[in-house]
Amino acid sequence: MTERRPRGLTLALREQAAARNPRPYRAGSPLLTVGVDIGGTKVAAGVVDRDGHVLEETRRETPDKSKSPQVVEDTIVEAVLDLSERHDIYAVGVGAAGFVDVTRSSVLFAPHLSWRHEPLRDAISRRLRLPVVVENDANAAVWAEWRFGAGREETHLVCVNLGTGIGGAMLVNGALQRGRFGVAGEFGHMQVVPDGRRCECGNRGCWEQYASGNALVREARELAAADSPVAHRWLERAGGDVQRINGPLITELAQEGDDAAVELIGDVGRWLGVGIANLAAAFDPGTFVIGGGLSDADELLLAPAREAFQRQLTGRRHRPEAAIVRARLGNTAGLVGAADLARPFARRFRRARARARDRRERLLQGRDA
Ligand SMILES: [Zn+2]
Repeated sequence: MTERRPRGLTLALREQAAARNPRPYRAGSPLLTVGVDIGGTKVAAGVVDRDGHVLEETRRETPDKSKSPQVVEDTIVEAVLDLSERHDIYAVGVGAAGFVDVTRSSVLFAPHLSWRHEPLRDAISRRLRLPVVVENDANAAVWAEWRFGAGREETHLVCVNLGTGIGGAMLVNGALQRGRFGVAGEFGHMQVVPDGRRCECGNRGCWEQYASGNALVREARELAAADSPVAHRWLERAGGDVQRINGPLITELAQEGDDAAVELIGDVGRWLGVGIANLAAAFDPGTFVIGGGLSDADELLLAPAREAFQRQLTGRRHRPEAAIVRARLGNTAGLVGAADLARPFARRFRRARARARDRRERLLQGRDA
């Protein structure tokens, strides 16, 4: 049962109250930021410290599973206000799946959110009276892996996230490579098969049609729907419902030693390796970090990927080869990375607040004298 309440009004009152009584910001309190991860129908927000630890996390569905910018914005504001009751927050980083403009203020296009040119940064910043930065979710994730996870101390890092599609990001000498227009890293739509499978983007043969969670599930369901004997056990585990066969189930079966499931993940792994070899030809990174839900399959996925990578790599045997490793931060990477990217803004904000307080005190002293 869902409780109906005048959500907008309540939230507006809370915002006003927060504006009237800003947190005192205790002297010497740690410089905390909030990271927000916007998913298809839910918002995760967490308070993160300087070492990348999540001190408190809250996850909420957007009401009525709405994807409208206004509703998502309300949900973010509410989550941050909640966390602010228990923590001194100095800035907010928002990670969104989509194209974020190069000034990191607007979401230009978010395929799963039906957003077009949403000025998210200013809208949230105005309401929370805090600095806000907006970042592509894959950029946020690669940042987190570089700062706190599997890519630490790597100078040339490429991140490939295998979820429903493929998210990608690059980092060179500690700087995210966003591209001229802010939309670099869309590796999932590199063509790997001429006239291949149709992709939602409108083209054919895109990499993510072969090496993603969706690709794995599509193959598995096809086998099950065709009543293939290799899929009988999968169907049984899915309660006889083809639609309930999903990535985590196939991964679990493969880890239990189901041959066909191992093979299916191996196929995806080989396609992963082919695409990574293309990326190595273009960018020559030292490490590829593989994240996203499918990376739970670990070596079942990565070993075939390395094999295909080595077979496909330009100049193989005559060049150093990049490492292909699993991401370490799991599904909090986007949130932790967004929070950490907001940290420089938090520092500036704290200094500005301290200066304003000093000025106020000097004025008061002058009046008392
Ligand atoms: Zn595509």
